[in-house]
Amino acid sequence: MTDTSPSTAGGRLAAGIVQVTPFQQNCTLIWDEVTKVGAVVDPGGDVDRIRQAIAKAGITVETILLTHGHIDHVGGAAELREALGVEIIGPHQADRFLMDGVEKQAAGYGLTGVRNVGSDRWLAEGDTVTVAGHRFDILHCPGHSPGSVVFVSKAQRLALVGDVLFRGSIGRTDFPYGDHEALISAIKTKLQPLGDDFAFICGHGPTGTLGEERRTNPFLR
Ligand SMILES: [Zn+2]
Ligand SMILES: [Zn+2]
Repeated sequence: MTDTSPSTAGGRLAAGIVQVTPFQQNCTLIWDEVTKVGAVVDPGGDVDRIRQAIAKAGITVETILLTHGHIDHVGGAAELREALGVEIIGPHQADRFLMDGVEKQAAGYGLTGVRNVGSDRWLAEGDTVTVAGHRFDILHCPGHSPGSVVFVSKAQRLALVGDVLFRGSIGRTDFPYGDHEALISAIKTKLQPLGDDFAFICGHGPTGTLGEERRTNPFLR
């Protein structure tokens, strides 16, 4: 597990990444450093490794958060929900069709051992989610998938962006339901106004800051 704890002074949320699935998805653990209570974001698969990381960090997981319905983000969610006895929160219900079809997505990639999964609480723009007492505001950012959401902690200056934005890139939009214009619009009108100092953890690859992407990301020119 890679330690990517935000370096915010006085910050009390820690984060760690476990790479899962053949897609090298960043399953992210976030937790309160004092209470050691937290959440698992996007358990796409390799549930045994996620559970080992949870145990190693000594965290009590109170919820599973999903950014969107793609197999590499939700493939292990049903199994982990059963193992931990917690609820699944997110994404937006516009991704329900993807989560109903995880097994179908798996067949297309030759993957086995994943299951369809529902949500215990669908999210919409303006909703809030609390993890170990830390508030996250929900932004609905469609384009990569219709139901993609971003979890925003204004106190910690941290956004969990899923596949909306990457360091130096953006989420792919070449799916039949993809929408490049909507994705660019969501990044520019919802993410970037959060501020250049915001750190983000994305679904693949290294973490970054909104300021660095504003200056260097070729898709945001
Ligand atoms: Zn995706
Ligand atoms: Zn992904």
